[in-house]
Amino acid sequence: MALTKTKDGKTYELIRFPMKTMNITQGNNGQYSHQGVTALDIAGKDTGIEPTFAPCSMRYKWHDSVANGNAIFFESVNKVMFADGSIDYATFMFIHDNYIGDILALANKGHVFAQWEEFGDEGTAGRATGNHCHFEVAKGKYSRPYDGPNRYGVYCLHNSISADKACVVDGVTIKNGNGMAWKKASQVSTGKQWTRDCILKEGEKTKSVSVQIGAWPGTNNAIKGGKVYIPALGNGIPMTKVTEAGDTRDGKFDNYLANTNAKVTVDECTVEAVDKAKNKVKIHGVWVNP
Ligand SMILES: [Zn+2]
Repeated sequence: MALTKTKDGKTYELIRFPMKTMNITQGNNGQYSHQGVTALDIAGKDTGIEPTFAPCSMRYKWHDSVANGNAIFFESVNKVMFADGSIDYATFMFIHDNYIGDILALANKGHVFAQWEEFGDEGTAGRATGNHCHFEVAKGKYSRPYDGPNRYGVYCLHNSISADKACVVDGVTIKNGNGMAWKKASQVSTGKQWTRDCILKEGEKTKSVSVQIGAWPGTNNAIKGGKVYIPALGNGIPMTKVTEAGDTRDGKFDNYLANTNAKVTVDECTVEAVDKAKNKVKIHGVWVNP
């Protein structure tokens, strides 16, 4: 069954983690062979060979030699939803499958791999010491296989990003998640995305600050005595400093903040302090996530 999510009225496939057991033996920027790149080595449930599954509906694009690990590249058929909520095409690279003739035979017939269709395997092709799957994912259509070598001599998938920003882990047993921020489909935000267009500095004025909130008990009493009270806004922000507080995103006060669309927009204010480590700024005496 396809794992999908709807955003702005359109339904997209989510990108699924490509193995049933997540046992990451080397993560992003790993000391062994991932220096300076975002890549995962996935070992599965044991030292044997387990299959890999198509993260989304995808088409074969290119493959490398057996000496280079049978690296094989795919592109999503349509735009898909990443675990960070963004929408784009996705490109994938899998390495170390000992035999990819089966995949190539299907690809030659124009086969489209369906989401979660079993298509490949872990293996040791190339310079692998134990059975695993080296996996990388990139945003955007396939344009070329590799970037690199970087200053450590390591190549990576062109434009690769951290897999936890791409893949959801529904149906995956996590044995070792490498401390990464894995999400399930239900945790993927389909709300508005933050656009990082500037760096906030102490003393600067912001045009507006909007805070997106989720539903929790008592949220519908968040507006009291002329102030908005939600945890993200500490001890309350006066309504006179707020242009919208509501669930409908219509620019009005709805006196009700209890769904995942709820939003509070705080008027122009001065950044009083910046906590870089916590990624927070202080406005109106309150620490908020910028
Ligand atoms: Zn690797």
